[in-house]
Amino acid sequence: MSSKSAAAPWVWIVSGPSGSGKTSLCEALLADPVWGCRLQRSVSYTTRPLRTGERDGKDYHSIPKQAFLKLARKGAFLEHEEIFGHHYGTPRAAATQASRQGRELLCCVDVKGARSIRRVFPKGSTSVFILPPDLDALSQRLKKRSTESKKDIARRLERVKIELAAMRAYDYIIVNDKFSEALGQLKAVLSARRCESPYVLRSLRKAHR
Ligand code: 5GP
Repeated sequence: MSSKSAAAPWVWIVSGPSGSGKTSLCEALLADPVWGCRLQRSVSYTTRPLRTGERDGKDYHSIPKQAFLKLARKGAFLEHEEIFGHHYGTPRAAATQASRQGRELLCCVDVKGARSIRRVFPKGSTSVFILPPDLDALSQRLKKRSTESKKDIARRLERVKIELAAMRAYDYIIVNDKFSEALGQLKAVLSARRCESPYVLRSLRKAHR
């Protein structure tokens, strides 16, 4: 998918440290009939085993490392990164599919993945960073969801510094203290962006192609 492709969908990139609530915010947005119908979630491929409650093909495509590396070699990913000892990749096909369905693509990726996606869609993407109110809250949330081992939680907290250092490059930053407020802000970001002239002019060009 080239950034010059007229058919490229608008891409919403959402990042934030583990436990910031970015996945829950994206899910709430997608589940909302008004907001969800214009969006398509990019389901990443990963070598991380699925957590309890995660659905294969809906939350992630969980595949063995060899299969992942083969897909990477074939160029099947828009971007891919190794995070917490596992591989994660955004499938190129997700953008094509979103475009065919006339939807915008929603990618929940780490800060490096976000940088790569912005490079692919420099004029057709908006990035949003979800910030936890403070590090204590983050640590509490990670412990509370009890999906990771103690070692993994420590690893995730250690990585927060890298994530926070990259926050300035994002178009928007939302502090997720109260979930409903953060969700409202995320919707406001989508609304505002969709009224900006580059977005509207791009949509008009597409409509008159
Ligand atoms: P988790 O294991 O908690 O689901 O995800 C770990 C990190 O990987 C999170 O920051 C998540 O946003 C990120 N991530 C998930 N899918 C992708 C992807 O396709 N590409 C990249 N670069 N990061 C991803």
